[in-house]
Amino acid sequence: MIRYFLNIIKGIISLCEGLGVTLKHVFRKPITLQYPEQKPDLALRFRGRLVMPLDSEKNDNRCTACMMCAKVCPNASIMEIEKVVEDGKPKPKAKKYIYNLGTCIFCNLCVEVCPFAAIVMSDDFATADYNKDNLIIDLVAEKYQISGKKANWWKSKFKEEITKEQKVNG
Ligand code: SF4
Ligand code: SF4
Repeated sequence: MIRYFLNIIKGIISLCEGLGVTLKHVFRKPITLQYPEQKPDLALRFRGRLVMPLDSEKNDNRCTACMMCAKVCPNASIMEIEKVVEDGKPKPKAKKYIYNLGTCIFCNLCVEVCPFAAIVMSDDFATADYNKDNLIIDLVAEKYQISGKKANWWKSKFKEEITKEQKVNG
């Protein structure tokens, strides 16, 4: 008999605990977003697809076609980098930079190895396409305009380098 009443009391306590959790969430600010109208506030290090932003000070990209990113890419997603040729001589500037988004694993190795902060993983994550040919992108021709806090974060990378160089050179 005592056991019977104890079970009833335990049941009521358990019910109150469950209702307490429900009540706590009723008054909490919703965390769901009405995507795509509302966009998520992504972390600075979020890895969307690779882009080669235009540096507004140069009005050009920062790539020197050094090939380091292509060499480090674990699955050859950076398919081709072609240098600008002037007077028959190759220049330290990319004419073409072919990136295969379809095979990219978003490892960020290419970004880390780039000595000029020419590339960055963007906030673009809605990149699905029915045609895989559309996932092969010439990042030079794209002339990507980076914006928002990601742009400031990206710029801080080469501004830091400039400051370091200036300190070293006195
Ligand atoms: S993020 Fe990784 S897989 Fe994608 S292009 Fe860069 S190195 Fe290659
Ligand atoms: S993106 Fe960076 S590492 Fe890749 S070729 Fe251009 S300068 Fe070199």
